[in-house]
Amino acid sequence: MLTGKTVTAGKASALGIVDAVVAERNIGRAIDEAASRRMERHGAGRIGDALNLLPARKAAARQMRSETEKRAPARHYPAPQSLIDLWEKHGGSQPDMLRAERASFARLLPMPITQNLIRNFFLRETLKGNGKGGSGIERVHIVGAGNMGAQIGAWCAFKGMHVTIEDPEPQSLGRAVAGMHRLADRKLHDPEALRAKDRFIPDPHGDGLRQADLVIEAAPENVSLKGAIYARLESEARRDAIIATNTSSLDIAELTSGLARPGRFVGIHFFNPVSRLDLIEVVCHDGVDETTHTRALRFVADIGKLPLPVKAAPGFLVNRALMPYLGEALLMIDEREQPERIDAAAEAFGMPVGPVELADQVGLDICLAVAESLAENLDRPMPRIPEWLRAKVANGEFGRKTGQGLYAYDADGKPKKDKLRHDPDEAMQDRLILPMVDAVAAALEEGVVADADSADAAMIFGTGFAPFRGGPMHYAQERGRGNVLATLDKLAAVHGARFEPSRWWRQKAEA
Ligand code: NAD
Repeated sequence: MLTGKTVTAGKASALGIVDAVVAERNIGRAIDEAASRRMERHGAGRIGDALNLLPARKAAARQMRSETEKRAPARHYPAPQSLIDLWEKHGGSQPDMLRAERASFARLLPMPITQNLIRNFFLRETLKGNGKGGSGIERVHIVGAGNMGAQIGAWCAFKGMHVTIEDPEPQSLGRAVAGMHRLADRKLHDPEALRAKDRFIPDPHGDGLRQADLVIEAAPENVSLKGAIYARLESEARRDAIIATNTSSLDIAELTSGLARPGRFVGIHFFNPVSRLDLIEVVCHDGVDETTHTRALRFVADIGKLPLPVKAAPGFLVNRALMPYLGEALLMIDEREQPERIDAAAEAFGMPVGPVELADQVGLDICLAVAESLAENLDRPMPRIPEWLRAKVANGEFGRKTGQGLYAYDADGKPKKDKLRHDPDEAMQDRLILPMVDAVAAALEEGVVADADSADAAMIFGTGFAPFRGGPMHYAQERGRGNVLATLDKLAAVHGARFEPSRWWRQKAEA
């Protein structure tokens, strides 16, 4: 209940929170047994009995509070802590608990935070709806078994697809298989995990390509290399197969320019880590066939992810919005700001990790490539890229994956952070968050994404944008668009043209 996670019927039974799980054909009998009280009920168990005593509950509640606070701070998410309070005070008496719960519920429900979280539920449903209908895709061939290809392949196999994966480097294929097995072994209780292992086939010669319904290219970010790959895919893949790219930053028009049949080509842009980020941008371009686009959206829903249709444009939506935020953090480091303080400012706003740690997670090499591509292709100024960042990348300091980036990392991949020298301030938050909000507004103005709700959903499910704030555009509305505009103007006066608000704000004010 504290995490808000849903569990499957089998797990609920194992946890003792339901009395029985029965096959559908036995439901009638089970209902009779339950109604006539013949069904054996799950007792609280020995630990449960002990927790009926107040001192035991007090001790357990203390621990729950500190664990919960780490994951969902009470100032942003009051409900879990209220639940612990209720249980601690009234857990020994069901009638008292129910009475107190009603009062607590009535207090929490109208809070803006609660309303925003409820809205997120519906935003998720809206995104899911973009991919309704079933794609009919069963066989996926992945080209490139690096960081992304391996994760995408593993995810698709877990979701029931038959996956073949090719790479010219045997080590990459080896790492992809090892990663897949590690993931499956962690889920040993799930019989599907074992079947997923069998469905994930390393394919050094690319034989799976000829049977695939969908080919996903996840090779290095290089136009001519990808172009050469597409020539082979076009000649060998089935005529009705979809060819998709996972590119983050390359110009889709340039990628399609050498294709004989661009109609079956589409962008399917996953986010890293694939298992944790639910959003996938499905990138449409001028020459794409309607059926390709629809099937790609449905495929994303088939693998349990949230499809967001976006127009081919530099950085699509999410990277375009994220880069000004990450770039501003790098400039602050350049101004000798303590990285821990920058992260603390963003986390106090409600971001799951701060921008410095996030840049290390994404990989400084990738951030640099995306930032350079956006600086070149967007007609808006981006934060200057500090020279030391290029030096770090040239030196192989890519962030968490190499153990050294903006932070140093321990063996478990945790950043070694110093103690905060001063508390973060709100001015810092505005300097980090508002460029991201403005970039979303610019993307809306240019029609990269259809509407503000979809953009909010994408930023929440693709970047973890403070969920209780309801997404960047909702945040701007709650704060007051006039206030956002005025603050951006002030920031532009101090820090330069990169803060100049996009036209969207004034258009909205006039509308
Ligand atoms: P990576 O360098 O980890 O993996 C690329 C893999 O492609 C390597 O294993 C390499 O051996 C292989 N390769 C090289 N030439 C090949 C060829 N001719 N045919 C098949 N495979 C070949 O890169 P990555 O981070 O996995 O990125 C792959 C793609 O995904 C890029 O287009 C990138 O923009 C995109 N992407 C990356 C991220 C991320 O966070 N890393 C997120 C979203 C999208």
